[in-house]
Parts: sequence; C-alpha cells; structure tokens
Amino acid sequence: MDIKTRSEIQAEITRLANKYQRTDNNISLLAVSKTRSATEIELLINQGQLCFGENYLQEATEKIETLKEHDLEWHYIGKIQSNKTRLIATHFDWVHTVDRLKIAQRLNDQRPAELAPIKVCLQVNSSGEASKGGISFDELPTLVKEVNQLEHIELRGLMTLPAPADELEQQRLPFKAVRAAFDSLRQQGVDLDTLSMGTTNDFEAAIAEGATMIRIGTALFGARQ
Ligand SMILES: *Cc1c(COP(=O)(O)O)cnc(C)c1O
Repeated sequence: MDIKTRSEIQAEITRLANKYQRTDNNISLLAVSKTRSATEIELLINQGQLCFGENYLQEATEKIETLKEHDLEWHYIGKIQSNKTRLIATHFDWVHTVDRLKIAQRLNDQRPAELAPIKVCLQVNSSGEASKGGISFDELPTLVKEVNQLEHIELRGLMTLPAPADELEQQRLPFKAVRAAFDSLRQQGVDLDTLSMGTTNDFEAAIAEGATMIRIGTALFGARQ
C-alpha cells in the first residue's frame, strides 16, 4: 500500500462519506503512530495532523514528552494492563480500549485532578473471538451505566477492532452490529457521540456503517516492521 498524505486521506474520507450518504460530516482522522519516531510524527504535524493514537506505553510517554511543545491530542488504543492505568490516566486525553469496570475505576481514581476528565470509548468485541479484547454486546449496557457514574471519566462512545476480513460486505457486518448497539444506547438516553472504528484495511466499511473516527497507521506512515 502506498503512503498517502493526510490531505489525500481526508479527501478519501469525504469521498466515502458522500458515497454512503453520510449526512453528519464529522468523521475525524486519528493517526496511529505506534512504532513511529517523534520525527515521523512531526512530519504529520506539519501536514496539520494533531490527534495521534499509541499502543505501547513506554514509547508513547517518551514521544509525548518529546513533542510536548505541540498542542497534540493523544489517544491510547492499546491493550490495558491494570498496573499501567496510572500512566494512561496521566498522559492521555482519550482511551479507546476500556472493556471492564475495574480498568475504568482505576483510570477514574488515577486521573490527575488538574486535568479534564479522560475521554473514553468502550471497546466492544464485535467478532466474538475469545482472544480479542472487548466487552460482549450482552454486557455492554451494564458497563455503560457503571462507567457513566465515574466523575473523572467522560464516556464518549464505542470502539471496535474486528477480526480482519477481505471483502467489503464481510467487513461491514461487525461495524453494523456496533453501530446498532451505539444507536440503541443513544435511544435509551445515553449521551454518546463517538464510534471509533476502521483501520487502513477496512475504513471504507467502517464509514459505510457510521464511524465517526477512523484510526489509520499504515496508510499514513507505511508498513510497520
Ligand atoms: C495499529 C492499530 C490501528 C492502525 O492499523 P493500520 O492497519 O496500520 O491502519 C488501528 N487501531 C488499533 C487499535 C491498532 O492497534
């Protein structure tokens, strides 16, 4: 896959939003910068990109420190170990991968008082594989209610990372299911505005099914080692 500039990806997002008749034109681009150096990130900052997603805490906190003179928004999108929640609560603006109450409670308790509440998406296991992270659709409504009680957390939406699939129609199925869960929660009065879904290989399917934030690494930076 060729590397695309930020504005090429933005143009692609607009094209797909039109193709799928998305009336809400707010689909944001999260640049996934795991394994990339601060220098590579700066090239994207120069293109106007300010939101970055990271998976590995050690390298992420170093880059956040190195790039602190820029006004960036940092999103944690990796697996969460409970002994690492303090680093996340201290350094990040968003977390996309909360899938159990214990983690949410720790992030809440460890969020520094001088910072705004941390913005959270609950990760949903949309492919039903035992190995994947994420809460099941059945358990989601209860977790939403519990997380919504936490003062230092601002619950914003749902995230999913489905098992890879080749065909567009196949890729759309798990996204459609998460979108339905999102709509149902909103109908019950839960205030959510973010559907974090879609990566380099499946962002068309995600946009077709209502994604409001896509997480793109490879298309922006090239293939990872
Ligand atoms: C690595 C990663 C991405 C980006 O994937 P690409 O295929 O490089 O676009 C998106 N979301 C999550 C959770 C990731 O871990």
